[in-house]
Amino acid sequence: MPKGPKLSPETRLKAIIDATRAGTWEWNLDTGEVVVNDRWAQMLGYEPEALEPMTYELWQSITHPDDAENAKQRMGAYLRGDVPHFDCVVRIRHRDGHWRWIHTRGQRLEDEQLTANWVCGTHLDISEERETQHRLQRLAESLPGVIYTFVLERDGTYRFTYVSRKSMDFYGIPAEDTLEDPSALFDIIIKDDISEVMETIRRSARSMTEWRCQYRIRVNDDIRWMEGVAQPEEDEVGRIVWHGMVMDITERKQLELELERLSVTDELTGLHNRRYMLRTIEEQIARAERYGDVFSLVALDIDHFKRINDSWGHLVGDQVLEQFARVLRSRVRRTDVVARTGGEEFLILLPNTDLPAARHVAEDLRQATEREHFDNGEGQSFTVTISGGVVTWEDSLSSMRDLLSRCDHSLYEAKHQGRNRIVVTTQS
Ligand code: GH3
Ligand code: MG
Ligand code: MG
Repeated sequence: MPKGPKLSPETRLKAIIDATRAGTWEWNLDTGEVVVNDRWAQMLGYEPEALEPMTYELWQSITHPDDAENAKQRMGAYLRGDVPHFDCVVRIRHRDGHWRWIHTRGQRLEDEQLTANWVCGTHLDISEERETQHRLQRLAESLPGVIYTFVLERDGTYRFTYVSRKSMDFYGIPAEDTLEDPSALFDIIIKDDISEVMETIRRSARSMTEWRCQYRIRVNDDIRWMEGVAQPEEDEVGRIVWHGMVMDITERKQLELELERLSVTDELTGLHNRRYMLRTIEEQIARAERYGDVFSLVALDIDHFKRINDSWGHLVGDQVLEQFARVLRSRVRRTDVVARTGGEEFLILLPNTDLPAARHVAEDLRQATEREHFDNGEGQSFTVTISGGVVTWEDSLSSMRDLLSRCDHSLYEAKHQGRNRIVVTTQS
């Protein structure tokens, strides 16, 4: 390529300044004289002539006092050689009264031929960027959670590149600290939940699908439930970047857990209810089929319960049920599941228990009930008896329904044979 004529330094400089739309300023440190270009004035809504003669004092009079002071100190630091550049953001009042955000930079002229001491610099109007930044920040603050950007590097290390200021309210950790050291936000996750958090992150990275995870954190000895949601994307250098939000869902979660508890609890006795028992039996059957685990089921029914109601009233009947429930609870293992499945009918699931052992448990409960004294509310005590059926899960049983019907059948036999007894059905 033949080389054409070169631009003169002046032409080049002017072209560059025009292209950057920068205001320029030169400040004579000796005389205080200031020279600015047209753009400098227009940026602030002035005709260039309106600012003649430009002085340091004039600049100061239209600059926000806090920023003018800050700029003065920075200039001082630069002139003393404490910092390599003069660089700061100031608010300067536009002619119509509003503030413009101006990024100003400058440098001393080191030309020995110059007779005076000049600092020259530029003004860039960054009001729009600033406004966008503020809008995003306000948005971040109005959201009910901490928003963040999380980066997984190709070497497996990770960090946060943005964390909103709510981090302080949520975790008691300043956002800046989390940028320096991401582990601060992982260390507060309670031990039981950390592997779930890490696994879901890995899964999200592998499948590039939304990360969503509920987990608990400990802040000042307080356990809070969090829900995180984030969308991953791969950036141009192969890192995975998630933009997301973490919300405090403690109240919702507590309500959910309480509803869950209520939905599996018998209100009168505090034992589990039928729904929970059926679900547990199903799980046990699955374990039995998969791992060959043994388990047994005991069905208990209070004898002639109707008579208690009829003689002493429904309330006394209720008290009998409650007291009987306490007998059951106090005599089974922690791993056994006790449920009130009907009016005066109970089921006990005994994991890792074979038929002879289950029969022993049922017999123990029968005897304990027989020994128990109940109060009729008028100072009189009475006793009750129970009948029971026992079954153990066997290969020959094909379903939960089979198991329950065989258990019912044993109970029916016990009633039929005269009550206050335990009947065991073995495979026929
Ligand atoms: P059996 O020995 O054959 O079991 O006789 P039973 O009287 O115990 O059996 P039945 O099924 O005839 O009667 C059970 C009674 O339990 C009928 C019902 O009014 C009473 N019942 C059911 N639920 C409750 C309850 O929550 N509280 C009270 N007090 N009674 C209940
Ligand atoms: Mg009964
Ligand atoms: Mg009954």
